Amino acid sequence: MQHPENNEEYKGLTVNSGVEQPAIVNPYLQRGRFARHRLTVDDYVQGILKGNVTMLGQAVTLVESTNPQHQQLAQEVIEKCLPYSGKSVRIGISGVPGAGKSTSIDEFGVHVLERTGGKLAVLAIDPSSEKTKGSILGDKTRMEKLSVHPDSFIRPSPSAGSLGGVARKTRETIILCEAAGFDKIFVETVGVGQSETACHSMVDFFLLIQLAGTGDELQGIKRGIMEMADGIVINKCDGDNVEPCQLAARQFRNALHLFPAPESGWLPKVLCYSGFYGLGIKEVWDMIFEYVDFVKGNGYFEHRRAEQAKYWMYESINEQLRNGFYNNETIAALLPRAERAVLDGQQTSFIAAKHLLDTYFGLLK
Ligand code: GDP
Repeated sequence: MQHPENNEEYKGLTVNSGVEQPAIVNPYLQRGRFARHRLTVDDYVQGILKGNVTMLGQAVTLVESTNPQHQQLAQEVIEKCLPYSGKSVRIGISGVPGAGKSTSIDEFGVHVLERTGGKLAVLAIDPSSEKTKGSILGDKTRMEKLSVHPDSFIRPSPSAGSLGGVARKTRETIILCEAAGFDKIFVETVGVGQSETACHSMVDFFLLIQLAGTGDELQGIKRGIMEMADGIVINKCDGDNVEPCQLAARQFRNALHLFPAPESGWLPKVLCYSGFYGLGIKEVWDMIFEYVDFVKGNGYFEHRRAEQAKYWMYESINEQLRNGFYNNETIAALLPRAERAVLDGQQTSFIAAKHLLDTYFGLLK
């Protein structure tokens, strides 16, 4: 299928023109949030395929909504966008708070847009936002240059839901962004736990940002996270920190040698750079492009995407089963009693769970 961006009729209507599009397709849009519901699936899809970022943003809001009607609409929009998706390079970027993710993403983003053209979307998975109800990652204000760049779209992490739910929404947002012609997608995540696994499961290249200078670089980082990395980059390699960074890089290289060879056949690289001073950014991108060529050549690129699609099918099943169960009114009414019985030692957790599940599946019959 031809992407509308390649169609003469649509030329000049995309975000590439640098001009915010007039509000589009449906006059209801201008009348505030209420009217948004009245947009049809096709309104959204057409807007997205034309590269209209306002419409894209509104469709993402639908994806993030907990309202069942919005969710239904979102699913239909996603399904129609699916044939136009997939044609991007998806890059996961992870690092602990303070590692320099936002500074680096700004530099990486501007560099790649200058180098290759196209459009960049910056999305995020932020498990902490569930507690704070405010997402920090992907915040526009953290990325000064990209936030005013006409070819970028920045979207903070959805701020509600379980990690699984938040990750699914980010994955669905990737599909919408790709359908809107974004050919480079960054998925930012905090390097503190399970969010890396979720991020890794939706990207083609997983970049781990590390810092030097603590003397025990390798101790604070979990082996599993290092094994996920396709590239490790040591940030803040500037001023007095150059030597410690180079030392850290050597330590990481040595440690990587001890791991089994990755399925991709690609040996992860370790590079030093400075996001703040814009040093070594080109080399980081050279590495990413080299990786993409390599895995497209040996078939791993497609294989990884297929495996990810399979993984997400199971994740969706799990999520829907869980939601169906916990949102069921009968179950919701029974849960406090079951909890009490377990706390009082009247029932084992296993038996209590079994009763509840039997009740739930009995209700479905
Ligand atoms: P994030 O929490 O991972 O997004 O980190 P930030 O991008 O907000 O950076 C945290 C702090 O490190 C800020 O004060 C940045 O100015 C600083 N920083 C980021 N990159 C560099 C760098 O390359 N060199 C130096 N010296 N400082 C940096």
